[in-house]
Amino acid sequence: MPQVIERARASGATTMVVVGYDMDSSRRAVEIAQSNEGIFATIGVHPHDAKSLTPGDISTLATLAESPMVVAIGEIGLDFYRNLSPPDVQHRVFREQLALARTLHLPTVIHSRDADEPTFEVLAEHADAVSGDWPAERPLGVMHCFAGDLALAQQYVDLGFLISIAGTVTYPNAETTRSIARGILLSSLLVETDAPYLTPQSHRGQRNEPAYLVETAKFIAELRGEPPELIAKETASTANRLFTLDRVGEPTGERA
Ligand SMILES: [Zn+2]
Repeated sequence: MPQVIERARASGATTMVVVGYDMDSSRRAVEIAQSNEGIFATIGVHPHDAKSLTPGDISTLATLAESPMVVAIGEIGLDFYRNLSPPDVQHRVFREQLALARTLHLPTVIHSRDADEPTFEVLAEHADAVSGDWPAERPLGVMHCFAGDLALAQQYVDLGFLISIAGTVTYPNAETTRSIARGILLSSLLVETDAPYLTPQSHRGQRNEPAYLVETAKFIAELRGEPPELIAKETASTANRLFTLDRVGEPTGERA
């Protein structure tokens, strides 16, 4: 872990977000964030693990979120590709955690696979439920490793979500993802590792880590015909707009 952080810093990544996917990894993400400068945490239960959520877990997540290092609820969502939890349980757990995000005024990190329509429906309800209680300039969340097409990406942007692209954009068969990377406004775009998965092409087969994010960002810059520095600066500022990383550590800890 320390070496991974060191290599990330050497690559130019100054700020990182560690993502939770079940109760244990959520606790660990908070621990890592609390003991490392410039690292923040998201907490939540992934659709794969939805079946393991106990009645007390939502209040445990709320308690964990009292840490100022917790910047979002996620990964949460629906995954009908692997169906590791029954669909009705995934739906319930997704909605319960969106309700938690609304209560805590936190943005969300959304996982959606083979679930385009149901995920959009649930998030449209979420957007409705927060309207009037959410700053207009602040995104509602991010569609992580977005796997839909450009039209759907645009619908999510209109709903108030950002689109995040991982190392998969560098894969030879990823033309749909490339069309999104080219086609959406830079202000709606994020880049991510999804480490240890989705390693960019030149390191494919190895375990992914934040240091490789640079390759993804450069690749997207080339696709868009924009300087890599601009992509780095704008996506960092967008991540800050989403997660309000610059308010962390302020004594009031007030969340937008
Ligand atoms: Zn995911």
